[in-house]
Amino acid sequence: MSEIDHKPRPSLSIVAPMYNEEGNVAAFVAAVETYVSPIGTPFEIILVDDGSSDGTWSQISEQSRLHPFVRGARLARNFGHQGALMAGLTEARGQAIVSMDGDLQHPPELIPELFARWREGYKVVNTQRADAEDTTFFKRATSRWFYGLFSRLTGVAMAPGNSDFRLLDRSAVDALRSMNDVDLFIRGSVSWLGFRSATLPYRAAKRFSGRTKYSLPKMLRFASGAILSFSLAPLRLGIWIGFMTSGLAVLEFVYILYRYEQGRTIAGWPSVMAFLSLMFGILFVLLGVIGTYLGKIFELLKNRPRFLIGERAGVSQD
Ligand code: UDP
Ligand code: MG
Repeated sequence: MSEIDHKPRPSLSIVAPMYNEEGNVAAFVAAVETYVSPIGTPFEIILVDDGSSDGTWSQISEQSRLHPFVRGARLARNFGHQGALMAGLTEARGQAIVSMDGDLQHPPELIPELFARWREGYKVVNTQRADAEDTTFFKRATSRWFYGLFSRLTGVAMAPGNSDFRLLDRSAVDALRSMNDVDLFIRGSVSWLGFRSATLPYRAAKRFSGRTKYSLPKMLRFASGAILSFSLAPLRLGIWIGFMTSGLAVLEFVYILYRYEQGRTIAGWPSVMAFLSLMFGILFVLLGVIGTYLGKIFELLKNRPRFLIGERAGVSQD
C-alpha cells in the first residue's frame, strides 16, 4: 500500500502452466507480447512452473527480469495441469484473464479477439479447436467419446475440442475459485457456472518445443476424475443393476415355487452357485463405487489446497 496504488492494475492477465517447457518459455513470452501489446491495455503474463525438473524455472525467472509484465510462480511439486492453471488464475490480478497452454499450441493471435468479445460484455469467451492435422486419431477419437459420455452423464454441456484456452472475466474466476471440487476439471466447472459466454474457433498449432506432458495414464485419471467429481451416475448405475437383479431373483423364486408345486425336486447346485456369484459380483462393484465416493468425501474433509506455491519471481506488487 503506497506507490503501488498509483500503478495501473493490469486489465488483462495471460496465464500459462509450464511443465518441463524450458524451450518454450522465451518464445511464449515473445509471441504473447507481440499480439497483446498492440491492444494498448496494461497486461501481465503469469507463468506457473508446475514442478519442472528441467530449466523451466530459471527461464521464467530470466523472463521476469527482462520484462516487468512477466510474473512467475513455482509450485512446490508437480500438481498437474489443472492445479497449475488454478494457481495461475489465483495469482492473476487482471479484470480479464486468458488461460492457455505454454507450448504455443494455443495461438496468441487469438487473444485480441478474445479480449474484444470480453469488452462486448461476455463473461466467458471459450475457444473451440478445429482438429489440427498432427492431432493423432487416437486423441481425437477418445476426446469425442469422452465429451459425449461426460455430457450425457452430467447434464453439463460440453463440445469436443473444448480446451483450457479461454478468457474469463474476474467474476468468473472468483466463482471458479470458490468451487470446492476435489478433482479439478476447470472446463467442466466453467460450463457449470453458466455465465454469458461466446465461443471462437481456432486451429491448434504444433507444439513449439518438447513433447506432450499428457501421458495415457494422466489422461485416464483426468477423465475419470472429471466424471466422478461432476456426476453421481456411477452410483445410480449400481442401484439400477441392484434393482434388476432383485427382480430377477423374484422371478427365479416364483419359478422354484412352481417346480416345487409340481412335486419336482429342484435340480442344480450350479445355478445357485452362479446366482450367488452374480450377486457377489454386483455387491463388489457397488462396494467399489461407494468406496470411491467415500474417498472423495475423505479428501474433501481434509480440505487440502489444490496447489502450493514455493516461490515467486517478478515485480512484487501487493
Ligand atoms: N502441464 C502442466 N503440468 C502437467 C502437464 C502439463 O503444467 O503435469 C502443462 C504443459 O506444460 C502445457 C499444458 O499443460 O503448457 C498442456 O500440456 P501438453 O501440451 O503436454 O498437453 P497436450 O497439448 O499434448 O494435450
Ligand atoms: Mg500441448
